[in-house]
Amino acid sequence: MPLPVPLVDLSFQHALITDEVHAGFDRVMAKGSFVLGPEVERFEAAFAAYCGVNHVLGVANGTDALELVLRAAHIGLGDEVILPANTFVATAEAVLRAGAVVKLVDCDEDFLIDPDAVRSIMSARTRAVIGVHLYGQMAPMERLRQAGGPDVFLVEDLAQAQGATRFGARAGSLGDAGGTSFYPGKNLGAYGDGGAVLTNSQGVADVVRALRNHGGINRYEHRFPGLNSRLDGLQGVVLSAKLARLDGWNQLRRDAARYYDELLQDSPEVVVPRVVDGNEHVYHLYVVRVPNRDRIVDHLTRMGISASVHYPVPVHLQPGFSDLGLPLGSFPLAERLSDEIMSLPIFPGITTEQQDRIVAALQNALDQHRQPTILRTAG
Ligand SMILES: *Cc1c(COP(=O)(O)O)cnc(C)c1O
Repeated sequence: MPLPVPLVDLSFQHALITDEVHAGFDRVMAKGSFVLGPEVERFEAAFAAYCGVNHVLGVANGTDALELVLRAAHIGLGDEVILPANTFVATAEAVLRAGAVVKLVDCDEDFLIDPDAVRSIMSARTRAVIGVHLYGQMAPMERLRQAGGPDVFLVEDLAQAQGATRFGARAGSLGDAGGTSFYPGKNLGAYGDGGAVLTNSQGVADVVRALRNHGGINRYEHRFPGLNSRLDGLQGVVLSAKLARLDGWNQLRRDAARYYDELLQDSPEVVVPRVVDGNEHVYHLYVVRVPNRDRIVDHLTRMGISASVHYPVPVHLQPGFSDLGLPLGSFPLAERLSDEIMSLPIFPGITTEQQDRIVAALQNALDQHRQPTILRTAG
């Protein structure tokens, strides 16, 4: 049996940066600058320039980044924050941790938050909207801005879309602030947890800078009770090395996506992901829709191919979010998609030979699990 194909394989990336990373780790150890420090500042400046924003602040993870963005915008108790039902649960957790109220809306056929749904749920208490750039392409920020109006704080969750653009503007540069994650498997990933806040607002940047470090900038001076959410020097080294290569690696992801598109042309039951007008996709995930999804995923797993589902259960149907009181049927599209979607392996360095095997196995699975066209009658 051929070697298994993992969902994500980071070995290609590791090999290319290993010397640079070791040299950087030596610098950090020589200085003892393990938490924040010069390597983090160097990365923050480079990532800010890359994204076209004035400020980047490294924090401990993506969930904290989103929470800190909301807190810095003085969004909290009783304030409503709108976000899509089909996101990673962290987006909703960040809102709850800021003390605000989660207001979910449905998505569109491209898995992105639906601006019309946002408009229809807006209330006098709506303070923020979070556009989640799911799977690697940007939510329609200009339409979200219109839907929210001038008084709503527009947030980007770009955890899955570092380097993506919309009409030429980078993810993170179109909202009032953005939060991202450097979890190892993201397009720009650290060697552990990490995250960042991006903003053009000096005010937001100042508050996040203090909040991430126990509410103060100078040691033992605490402007307000904050938290400990800082990026490590060692991670700054890794992230700088990877950022320099991010565009090239995102291009490899796009090439792999084009190759999947091509191979899957002959499989009409498979709906391949669409690139929305104006977007440059960075394919954090390559998500297709298939019939009999669970059986297909099982079949691929038995063949040594790690397909996965992002995400099998929308936020409102998670047991931990039953307090929202949103039953099955609340978001028809998000719910239907959660039954049909499947993520195929994609990462810089995936080979066409691996993709050939994945698609052959997928076609085989579809043949075996094709639903009979004659419907069985009940009883
Ligand atoms: C990964 C991710 C997060 C959370 O990031 P962590 O670093 O794991 O806290 C938030 N939103 C989305 C869409 C993500 O994919």
